[in-house]
Amino acid sequence: MDSSKEFKGKVAFVTGASSGIGRAAAVLFAKAGARVCIVARREKELRETEDQILRLGGEAERLTGDVTDEGFDREAVAQSVRRFGGIDVLVNAAGIIASGSLADTSTELFDRMMNVNVRSVFFLMREAKAALVERKGSIVNISSVAGTRAFPNVFAYVTSKAAVNAMTQCAALDLAPYGVRVNALNPGVVVTHLHRAGGMTEEAYEKFLEHSKTTHPLGRTGSPEEIAEAILFLAGPRSGWITGETIAIDGGRHLTCAR
Ligand code: NDP
Repeated sequence: MDSSKEFKGKVAFVTGASSGIGRAAAVLFAKAGARVCIVARREKELRETEDQILRLGGEAERLTGDVTDEGFDREAVAQSVRRFGGIDVLVNAAGIIASGSLADTSTELFDRMMNVNVRSVFFLMREAKAALVERKGSIVNISSVAGTRAFPNVFAYVTSKAAVNAMTQCAALDLAPYGVRVNALNPGVVVTHLHRAGGMTEEAYEKFLEHSKTTHPLGRTGSPEEIAEAILFLAGPRSGWITGETIAIDGGRHLTCAR
């Protein structure tokens, strides 16, 4: 199948679109012919994503705001429908990470993690349901290898991503009767802004990336573009009989034991 314009006439709603995986997905959707609603808090970075889409000859609706705000999510979905007439694909890529073991995870950090990584996904899936049902669309949630495996010292993050996988499976069952598919990707380490935004210094990040060559059997980290390719596969007709899956995309990371 020629997939070069497989999303022509479709509308993709992508959170976390100001950087990393969300931005790469938004741009790839535009390349594939979709009109794209791009969501994040940082205005300047979101405009850069919009510029990339416009340079491709695409159309974007910039929705600047905080996905933890239920009112914002409702209005963002409504605005997407007003501007483009509906929503075919919802990609929940907004997310944060922070280190902290069970003992040193504050209640504030735990709540913040759950608000961004879990509650926003719940809000947006619920708010977009009617639009997705209308178009028999699909949802792709960006979870993590940390959603299927436990890691030390990232207590809240691992907990939040396990919840994303569980929500994906529950939503897949609830929406299957309407012809709406729901899947998740569980990436290994991908080079983005995530870890530095979560407090890692440049030096620590460099070391982490170097070490990641040994923890990922394919011997390297992933790129946002590789994750975006998988997002488009799960979002579109090529995966039409796949729902409720939480798929590893991690150079084999999930197969290994700690070392
Ligand atoms: P980035 O930090 O590059 O991107 C995260 C995005 O989330 C940004 O666009 C950020 O935008 C947005 N975001 C964060 N908080 C909020 C909020 N409250 N409201 C709206 N937008 C928000 O990281 P990645 O691209 O790596 O992360 C994307 C997803 O992939 C995350 O869910 C992450 O957990 C997951 N993931 C990443 C891995 C990696 O190694 N990079 C591995 C496995 C999973 P802004 O700050 O402008 O609001």
